[in-house]
Amino acid sequence: MRTFSDLIVCEHCDSVYRRRTLLPGEVARCGRCAAILYRAQRLDIAGWLALTLAAAIVFVIANVCPVIHISLQGLHNDATLWESATALARGPIALIAVPFALSIIVFPLVQISLFAWVLLHASVGRRAPGFAPVMRLLAALRPWSMVEVCLLGILVAVVKLSNFLQVTPGAGLWATAGLMMLIMLIANRDTQRLWELTEPKPPASV
Ligand SMILES: [Zn+2]
Repeated sequence: MRTFSDLIVCEHCDSVYRRRTLLPGEVARCGRCAAILYRAQRLDIAGWLALTLAAAIVFVIANVCPVIHISLQGLHNDATLWESATALARGPIALIAVPFALSIIVFPLVQISLFAWVLLHASVGRRAPGFAPVMRLLAALRPWSMVEVCLLGILVAVVKLSNFLQVTPGAGLWATAGLMMLIMLIANRDTQRLWELTEPKPPASV
């Protein structure tokens, strides 16, 4: 099958364009519907990989450290993301625990692992094994990884609970906020570049 990696299709009106290298800060727009086709990338593969590894470290902190500390009349309790998910599973809205755990813990973990896999290979100019299905999975996961929704939920819970109890945010909450920023930075990029950078070279003709 022939592929045309130098062409780009507008997602909104299906116009086809030939890609060209943009200068820093430039944006390529569709000539017909003015939608953004792609942007100039400030970050190279090494920077992208560094952000992904930082996200992996922050992910561990967000899952190991408590997100909130609760105190009431000398009694203290801490809750991590995992404990929040298991507490939900035991409560009256147990079904919510599944999408909670998937979108807050499982999907971000899969995203970070897959990005690390393709970027580690791309950093040495190689295409990772299973590259095409991994890229399709990353595109499918993008809307389902919702760390920012979790963060908003925790902040609302902290404010509501602080009316009755002494609630203080834990290290896990700050790590979750950092994770939200890092996931946005690594996942909302033009992944087309990875296809171009790792494209196998045609065999040299003799
Ligand atoms: Zn268009």
